Amino acid sequence: MRTSQPTTIYLSEYQVPAFLVDHVDLRFELFEDGARVHSVLDIRRNTEAGRDQAALELDGDSLTLERLQLDGRTLGEDEYDNQGERLVIARVPDQFQLTVVTWIEPQNNTRLEGLYKSSGMFCTQCEAEGFRCITYYPDRPDVMARFRTRVEADKHHYPVLLSNGNDVERGDLADGRHFVTWEDPFPKPCYLFALVAGDLTEKRDHYTTQSGRGIDLRMYVEPRNADKCDHAMDSLKRAMRWDEEVYGREYDLDIFMIVAVDDFNMGAMENKGLNIFNSSCVLASPDTATDVAFERIESIVAHEYFHNWSGNRVTCRDWFQLSLKEGFTVFRDSEFSSDMGSATVKRIEDATLLRTAQFAEDAGPMAHPVRPASYMEISNFYTLTIYEKGSEVVRMIRTLLGPELFRKGSDLYFERHDGQAVTTDDFVQAMEDASGRDLGQFRLWYEQAGTPELTVRDDYDAGRQVYSLTIEQRIPDTPGQRNKKPQHIPFGIGLLDSNGKDLSLRLSAGDHSHLTERVLELTGELQTFEFHGLAERPVPSLLRGFSAPVRVFYPWTRDQLMFLMSHDSDGFNRWDAGQRLAVDVISSLVGAPAEAEVEPRLLTAYRHLVSDTELDQALVAKMLQLPSEAYLIELTAEADVQAIHAARNRVLQEVADTLRDELVACYHRNHQSGDYTYNSSAIARRALANTALAWLLHINDEEGRELALRQFKDASHMTDQAGALRALVNSDFEADRDRVLADFFRQWREDPQVVEQWFSVQTASPRCGDLERVRALLEHEAFDWKNPNKVRAVIGAFAGQNLARFHAPDGSGYRFLAQQICRLDDSNPQIAARLVSPLTRWRKFAPQYRDGMKAALETVRDKAGLSRDVYEVVHKSLAEPA
Ligand SMILES: [Zn+2]
Repeated sequence: MRTSQPTTIYLSEYQVPAFLVDHVDLRFELFEDGARVHSVLDIRRNTEAGRDQAALELDGDSLTLERLQLDGRTLGEDEYDNQGERLVIARVPDQFQLTVVTWIEPQNNTRLEGLYKSSGMFCTQCEAEGFRCITYYPDRPDVMARFRTRVEADKHHYPVLLSNGNDVERGDLADGRHFVTWEDPFPKPCYLFALVAGDLTEKRDHYTTQSGRGIDLRMYVEPRNADKCDHAMDSLKRAMRWDEEVYGREYDLDIFMIVAVDDFNMGAMENKGLNIFNSSCVLASPDTATDVAFERIESIVAHEYFHNWSGNRVTCRDWFQLSLKEGFTVFRDSEFSSDMGSATVKRIEDATLLRTAQFAEDAGPMAHPVRPASYMEISNFYTLTIYEKGSEVVRMIRTLLGPELFRKGSDLYFERHDGQAVTTDDFVQAMEDASGRDLGQFRLWYEQAGTPELTVRDDYDAGRQVYSLTIEQRIPDTPGQRNKKPQHIPFGIGLLDSNGKDLSLRLSAGDHSHLTERVLELTGELQTFEFHGLAERPVPSLLRGFSAPVRVFYPWTRDQLMFLMSHDSDGFNRWDAGQRLAVDVISSLVGAPAEAEVEPRLLTAYRHLVSDTELDQALVAKMLQLPSEAYLIELTAEADVQAIHAARNRVLQEVADTLRDELVACYHRNHQSGDYTYNSSAIARRALANTALAWLLHINDEEGRELALRQFKDASHMTDQAGALRALVNSDFEADRDRVLADFFRQWREDPQVVEQWFSVQTASPRCGDLERVRALLEHEAFDWKNPNKVRAVIGAFAGQNLARFHAPDGSGYRFLAQQICRLDDSNPQIAARLVSPLTRWRKFAPQYRDGMKAALETVRDKAGLSRDVYEVVHKSLAEPA
């Protein structure tokens, strides 16, 4: 285990590597009781570093060193220093070959970093710093080397042996063992190294690139999952085609492989030519996966594939630059999903995640810029800020440049930096150079943390026929950062006349433009824009398409929001107006007496929506979702979770009671029997039918109950079966709930991904997921502490989604979570650190919650032998705000 005290690493202290590795020759001998790793490194002094006398320093973690040779000569123990996480050789020539032999124990590796065993197979996870758990190496992304890897194992138990690149040699060995040698022609940082050995079924397909090269596509899964590969394979081929068409990027090796692994800390990993996936992010069949899972899989397969260029061919110089690959690649996968389905719906989903969770991160103790300036444990920085806000930053660059110049910029970036490890600044520089635009102020998006707040005031001068918007920009203080400079913000806008039609946006008296949509560029603390030639006071449609990750404050009236909800030509803002109206109504009911009226205009708006068959049904389905409790909490200064939960439930109850007949009709109109089809209109209809069902069960409607029971029994695919299950679990029909839960488990007990859904549908439900049940599920035969997906499905879903139960007034939810974090910290610190997140923002809650949350954090802080991962999150959460 790790021994050193947590220390902080700073971007400002970056130094180019003193040594480079040109070639790595690896030989893995895999056994049941451990693995021996032979590593031969061709190393030379980096002349750019200008440190002629520097010692060679290699990273290592949990390794047993068996042999160390320099140019074939075994080094004596006085010739190197091997302490803790560093192996130092003081005196080395300018160029030499280093042989390192280490012994590791993958079978006991519960951290799931480096080489470990999952369901009887060997696999790796090396990002960010897992390679040092395999062998001593300069484990940093700016050291790029060519790898040759020979894997040896028992042939019967491990017939499939994989690594990066192309397989160049294979053969049998003594004692029933065999080997395969892989060679990767592209230099890569060690975090992209991968190895897999197991008894896996291979599914093959083929892809021909635009230039006519044939690529072998292979998926490796456990034999029982052989029928769950089609969707991922189809998604992969769509992604390959899309990247050629949209970015001009072709795949570069002869083989592309995907492996599914059950025990995995992350979603998936883009190792060169050998992507390793969490099973839940790649395996799908209509029987076992919902629409949401199908869409998620399509986007994750694409994401990992896109990394081949944005991440692998051009990689990060250091981990402060993580968003260089992640922000850009999330942007790419998000555009891919938009093109495959409904662009408006995708935008709504991205903005919802951002506004609910990333804005919360930006306002909390872990707030950090898209390019952080420091960290203790890099695993804690795989955050929504790096990924989602990083993606928004790239999106804003495209908005400012326009699609053509943006493509010119990305071409230049790939061409200029192919084979290099670079920085976010290099990315922006390429965009500037290709477009001629000055992005100097824009760079602040990478440096300043916190969500910009825009306060908008407007004025109409009837005499001049001029409408003006005054926009004030403010960026809140965050830990370590105060008094920030204004940022460069693209602000999409439209103006509607009283009939709901878009007006021409003329920025001066002489402007005769017919543009009805514009992107204003905000650069100052206070700016005023005038719109000329307007015969009446318009209704503003602000931040169209969610053109920047900011909060907008404008005193909309409920009538204006109703108006925008039915007339805005921008689909995103149409949805957003509905959200703002619902937030306004729910907020006004927080703490109000039980007999307080629910705004009738909201009920009218939902009545129109439930019956609307004209509007894009995918958008209707989104518009019918009430703002989540997490979002409502995020918008509240001193959140009283129970009061927010009650107010939201009150609205849900009133809407469902009032629209009961319309909901039944909506259900019948949209519910489809028959085979599963995967396209956006079928997905929208299923979402609408299941929303109607959920609302009917929320009010314990008898007809709804019958519909749900029938749907559960007759469902021909998981979307409908899980939809009915979820609705029943969230009702007060306790006998039905218990029966369908038991039936569902019996039916799917052999399928881990479905069992994960079965866990989380209970733990996330405020009606059924009380602490007693959650504790019982931890004892369930299907629960496994070693499997991160199960931990997330039971503990993560309870603390992250079942907010009314987690924030129980007696503090029991907090104490429970603290216990589980302490327990997990010993076996898997990465997962433990992620579970701390629901407690980190304790200062945001009303006093009756705050103390219990803080006490829970203190319990974790005081645990003996706390990992660096959890230490960092807990200490930052408890620190006094600067
Ligand atoms: Zn990624």
